[in-house]
Amino acid sequence: MTTTRRAAIGAAAGLLAAPPLLGLRDAAAQGAAPPVVGPAFHRFDVGALKVTVVTDGSNVRADVTQGLVMGATPDQVSGALRAAGIAGPAMRNPFNVTFVETPRGLVAIDVGTGGIGGPGTGALRDNMRAAGLDPARVVLIVHTHFHGDHIGGLTGSDGAALFPQAAVAVPEREWTFWNDAGEESRANEARRPAFANVRRRFAPYLERVTRFAPEAEVAPGIRAVATNGHSPGHTSFLIANGAAQALVIGDAITTPAFFMANPEWYPSFDMDPPMAVETRKRLLDRAATERMPVVGYHFDMPATGRVERAGTGYRLVPAAA
Ligand SMILES: [Zn+2]
Repeated sequence: MTTTRRAAIGAAAGLLAAPPLLGLRDAAAQGAAPPVVGPAFHRFDVGALKVTVVTDGSNVRADVTQGLVMGATPDQVSGALRAAGIAGPAMRNPFNVTFVETPRGLVAIDVGTGGIGGPGTGALRDNMRAAGLDPARVVLIVHTHFHGDHIGGLTGSDGAALFPQAAVAVPEREWTFWNDAGEESRANEARRPAFANVRRRFAPYLERVTRFAPEAEVAPGIRAVATNGHSPGHTSFLIANGAAQALVIGDAITTPAFFMANPEWYPSFDMDPPMAVETRKRLLDRAATERMPVVGYHFDMPATGRVERAGTGYRLVPAAA
């Protein structure tokens, strides 16, 4: 079954401004925004499990040929945009949260930006409502990693928990890294605020946080898959039911037009680029070989599709909306 609906934030598409997100170097979104925002949510089945990808919205990077794609020249990046049929150099960056109805209850994989991505973001709760999902019904939040655009939605502007009933499960290694005072003191100026943000966002959940080991089953039908590199403990989640499966990859692969087509390239946000590239190649090979649907946090809605080999790289074949 496939269900979509136009995004609640669609009308705001013309209002997108500079996103103060994650210390983005290309934050000034001055140019005309690409017009398409896409649906508010996309629902599909993995065997008997209902999966709903809900968008938190998107922002626009003004010029993706500068400072975003490492390992490539601006000309090569422009070429990749052309090959993907994207006018550029402005490009939309979406943020999408995955929900799974499990026998234990509703599970969220990441929680959106909390609006830190600018006026086109922070629409998760409205779009959850459009999808018939009540935040109070979320029994478990699992995190791929702790970058601000994935944990911002844990709390409101008053610091209160936005998911009142949810336990929170986090990758052990990610938790250790971001709560390590030594790592914080050694971090560069751009990255240091992310440590304080982790403390702030998790504060109202501390009593309910558990840490899981790589490859742990975090909920019935959802297993962690270590995909380190984008961050120290970055984790993907394999949803499986009977013979059906789908892999929620978080930021192991971000923009398909760049990092599927050219697995050697990497986004400037990858914290350990060689490891991230190795992880990405492994994931792409597995997804293509097993014909396994993937769900990307930063893919355009419907944010899911199959991976095919194409030339020297891969491409995403989006699911029918
Ligand atoms: Zn991200």
